[in-house]
Amino acid sequence: MIQVAINGYGTIGKRVADAVREQPDMEVLGVAKTRPNFEAETAVEKGYPLYAAIEERADRFAEAGLEIAGPVEDLVANADVVVDATPSGIGAENKSLYEEYDTPALYQGGEDAELVDVSFNARSNFEAATGAQHVRVVSCNTTGLSRVIAPLQEAYGVEKVRATLVRRGGDPGQTSRGPINDILPDPVTIPSHHGPDVETIFPDLDIDTLGMKVPATLMHMHSLNVTLEEAVDAAEIRDRFADESRLFLIPESMSIDGSGKLKEYAHDVGRPRGDLWENCIWEESISTVGRDCYLFQGIHQESDVVPENVDAIRAVLGASDATDSIATTNEHLGIGF
Ligand code: NAD
Repeated sequence: MIQVAINGYGTIGKRVADAVREQPDMEVLGVAKTRPNFEAETAVEKGYPLYAAIEERADRFAEAGLEIAGPVEDLVANADVVVDATPSGIGAENKSLYEEYDTPALYQGGEDAELVDVSFNARSNFEAATGAQHVRVVSCNTTGLSRVIAPLQEAYGVEKVRATLVRRGGDPGQTSRGPINDILPDPVTIPSHHGPDVETIFPDLDIDTLGMKVPATLMHMHSLNVTLEEAVDAAEIRDRFADESRLFLIPESMSIDGSGKLKEYAHDVGRPRGDLWENCIWEESISTVGRDCYLFQGIHQESDVVPENVDAIRAVLGASDATDSIATTNEHLGIGF
């Protein structure tokens, strides 16, 4: 069994922990937190050994009635791999800790691409991470774009991608974030950082992205235009996407008109935390005009990177190939509607 440490137990970390626990070939060795809160309490209730990310603060856990298994150093030392899910920039500070114990580390999309040996998306470049010590699972938006670009590139060749990303202002729990009543070009400069980030997965891709931020918490929305190297029927692209396990084509018959109903659907079918691990593409939005393909997709920022982290664990340890890992992750997480 692969022993997985999770350092940083917030939005992404807690979801990765639960996804790892579901896998037949891995287990959660422990999770590290900086302070006691409701997430620390639920970690203990779920049976995850809790480690203190900052040793001087370990007493605070005891005061809150939470037993600490040890300092984060012990967790990292004993793990086969560590998933760093700390806030942007903290992963870079933690790198020396992982190097000290020679433990391969996965970082999240908030870290710079320069921090790591490889930026990772399971569908697009799984093998590139084999044996790497420092791997970055790219952001929710880059993951969403990569999953669509990979099959189009393989089948038809991609001349150019143009994407407008309408981004949620914050996650549901991020009460400090905004905007509250506004629509922001964000960043106002063009292209946004997302295009160069996608190029960490597809180095030769021509892609421009524009970002906006809106007062929403549920999901991001992408408006996508991909110029292919040949003219293709929209129906053919829909069929191709239907074969991609992490693309959910929302049928017109479901009358899902936006992220609100998508999340409602996820809750109705019993998804944990209402998570949508798949890109949610409106099937009837997939259109072509000559060589231009257009579509709208919803990206659940809190969860689409979760299966990618599980696959990245197997990739760095050379424990599986892409096809088997993706299939195992999908089966045990319950991906696909
Ligand atoms: P979060 O704030 O919800 O969780 C981070 C957790 O790490 C918190 O519990 C925080 O207390 C803890 N932490 C802070 N400093 C720490 C330290 N030194 N050691 C251990 N733990 C520490 O953040 P998040 O949304 O889960 O984001 C984590 C990473 O994932 C970031 O790089 C982010 O960019 C990326 N990401 C976030 C989203 C999203 O929408 N939330 C999507 C994709 C990727």
